[in-house]
Amino acid sequence: MGQELLADGAQGLGAAETKTETKAETKTDTKAETEDVTGTVGRLRATFDAGRTRPTAWRRRQLRALRALLTEQAPVFAEALAADLGKSPVETHTSELGLVVNEIDHTLRHLERWLRPRRVAVPVPMLPARARTVREPLGVVLVISPWNYPVMLALAPMVGALAAGNCVVLKPSELAPATSAALARLLPRYLDPDAVAVVEGAAERTTRLLEQRFDHILYTGNGTVGRIVMTAAARHLTPVTLELGGKCPALVEPGTDLAAAARRIAWGKFLNAGQSCTAPDYVLAIGGTAGPLADHIADAITSMYGADPARSPDYGRIVNERHFDRLTALLGDGRVVTGGTHDRASRYLAPTVLADVDPAAPVMDGEIFGPVLPVLSVPDLDSAIAFVNARPKPLAVYAFTPHRRTRRRLLAETSSGAVGFGLPNAHITMPGLPFGGVGESGIGSYHGRYSIEAFSHTKAVLDKPLLPDTVRAVYPPFTAAKERLIRRFM
Ligand code: NAD
Repeated sequence: MGQELLADGAQGLGAAETKTETKAETKTDTKAETEDVTGTVGRLRATFDAGRTRPTAWRRRQLRALRALLTEQAPVFAEALAADLGKSPVETHTSELGLVVNEIDHTLRHLERWLRPRRVAVPVPMLPARARTVREPLGVVLVISPWNYPVMLALAPMVGALAAGNCVVLKPSELAPATSAALARLLPRYLDPDAVAVVEGAAERTTRLLEQRFDHILYTGNGTVGRIVMTAAARHLTPVTLELGGKCPALVEPGTDLAAAARRIAWGKFLNAGQSCTAPDYVLAIGGTAGPLADHIADAITSMYGADPARSPDYGRIVNERHFDRLTALLGDGRVVTGGTHDRASRYLAPTVLADVDPAAPVMDGEIFGPVLPVLSVPDLDSAIAFVNARPKPLAVYAFTPHRRTRRRLLAETSSGAVGFGLPNAHITMPGLPFGGVGESGIGSYHGRYSIEAFSHTKAVLDKPLLPDTVRAVYPPFTAAKERLIRRFM
């Protein structure tokens, strides 16, 4: 007994020692990490301060190098995306690599025009003078990206940040580890390593990064972390672009070709196994369209992924067990019209349509972010608009309607990051359109020239010759004559 106690005690002491050791190790790790990220940010800041990133030629070189990386290393990224998300090679091209290449080409085509100073009219009392705006790069930009489109959402912001003449620290998502490793390995081989750095890691490492002073932060992910990022940024008065999520509704009106609408909705929803921020989250089927629409969506699923989507090479997998468990728990929130089958070992969840869903059920609470599509029935357009407006502002509102009046009403009476008539998701592929949310779905936008706006400061420049001194009226002492002049012209 005594020996047992002694053994227990020794074990207890040993455990305490181990705990102390672990604590000390963690402390050292944290310190090393802080020094590491401080060093990285400092190195990039020195590059920026030396003016290396300012010439348009440097920016163009980086964009062309990024393009070369995407084309030459496409097989490496395809393999990583297949490992992380079971992404098909075609979706890897259409929704990841191809999108960034398009963004680069669009930017290379228009960059000089976007960067050109803009002349501004000078009011008569201020003449002679010239006024203009010039674009100024911000400095060192932090891009924090998520796992669901781990290449596109890491590199599309980088295109804009480099085009605007900044240095970039990229923090890819640890939940897409193969893609994160590929980015960390390949980016420094193609891009200027003194201007671009990849810092891998999870929340703890990102916390260390967020302690640093950046000149802009673009974060893509969920709103809870968005708030953490914005709070950290506030300490340094760093501006942020927050690309967040939400529940994007798809409205379907009677008179629409339901089979065609169902195909578009099924494609937009089940792409990447429903793990798209722009995916239709739920359907509001107006005026008795719910039943036939749900059947058409079920047919569309079969025509796209076959009778058993588990065997389709074109259907993805859920990113991890945590999300798999969260999604399968939602399956009981309605009547399963099609799908519902799942396999935890392979993180497979069939494309699923739910009918008879209670609007107060958990599936209608947070963003679903997976292949579960509730189809809710509403009597008319007024109730559909009221339903959307009773919830946080989504990233997009989609509508399938033959009526121009409905389109006008949706634009005027709902608020969202974007609106898609007839096709979900695709607005993200248009480099001429800003991409971003509003309210709970985000702050700011990027893509194309909107990226230049996000990652530059627009500097106001007034250039007035010293002579003739036409502003003498504003110099004290203010005589009655001067006052008359001021009141007349200013
Ligand atoms: P995630 O878990 O990969 O997190 C995003 C990033 O935040 C990662 O790099 C992660 O390391 C970092 N992070 C996590 N916890 C952190 C913490 N405590 N402090 C600092 N950093 C932290 O991705 P997610 O959030 O699950 O992404 C899914 C969400 O993102 C959905 O809501 C989706 O709608 C949204 N999303 C939005 C867009 C858009 O462009 N608007 C695009 C894709 C995804």
